[in-house]
Amino acid sequence: MKVEIISCLRDNYSYLIIDETNNLACVVDPSEARPIIDYLKNKNINLKYILNTHHHFDHVGGNEELKKKYNAIVVGYKHDSERIPEIDILLEDNEIWERDNFVAKIIHVPGHTKGHICFNFYKEKLLFTGDTLFSLGCGKIFEGTYEQMFNSLKKIKALPLDTKIFCGHEYTLNNSKFCIKHDNENLSLQKKIQDIKIKLNDNLPTIPSTLKEEMDCNIFLRAKDVKTFSKLRDLKDNF
Ligand code: ZN
Ligand code: FE
Repeated sequence: MKVEIISCLRDNYSYLIIDETNNLACVVDPSEARPIIDYLKNKNINLKYILNTHHHFDHVGGNEELKKKYNAIVVGYKHDSERIPEIDILLEDNEIWERDNFVAKIIHVPGHTKGHICFNFYKEKLLFTGDTLFSLGCGKIFEGTYEQMFNSLKKIKALPLDTKIFCGHEYTLNNSKFCIKHDNENLSLQKKIQDIKIKLNDNLPTIPSTLKEEMDCNIFLRAKDVKTFSKLRDLKDNF
């Protein structure tokens, strides 16, 4: 399996998970159809599945057009069946979703939205976190509670440390400014910030990160309890 990062809209990332043995792909959170179609056409790859982490427009905007063009199957959380356009397969928390050679465990992570899920391709250790966990940040709490978001991040923290983190937006540099402000002695963070700047200077994504890097550097994952976490989330909202 190979993951291709596709830049969409202003700062969104969609991801193609490509099975090179048969040239089939899943797309995670297609913000828009065009950049996905361009890539697939160029490489002669067929899109079979559209995986949505949550219903926000910048994560499902390409569903309809891609489904129509490729006859692809739209996969999302069962309690968001009313909000995810063109949904076909309804997923449950902890379910193992398995089609062709694609195998992912579904992790329900409420907080940003009530129905947010992560796709954990555990065999390859690839985690698609949408707007729940960002590199050096976490999503805004729109629908859930602080406690739900804290517990959702806790579920992610329990995964293997070498899991690669693929999130929904390129927010890393801005997130790093908040982290360093509140955690300025953190040497791993200082080093990560240097790496981020090099990548961005070369016009490269800062994604993927790893869970280990996030545990070491991401202040929201380092928060010990809900109270600390909530305070940080409030500060970040006004940062
Ligand atoms: Zn969102
Ligand atoms: Fe988003």
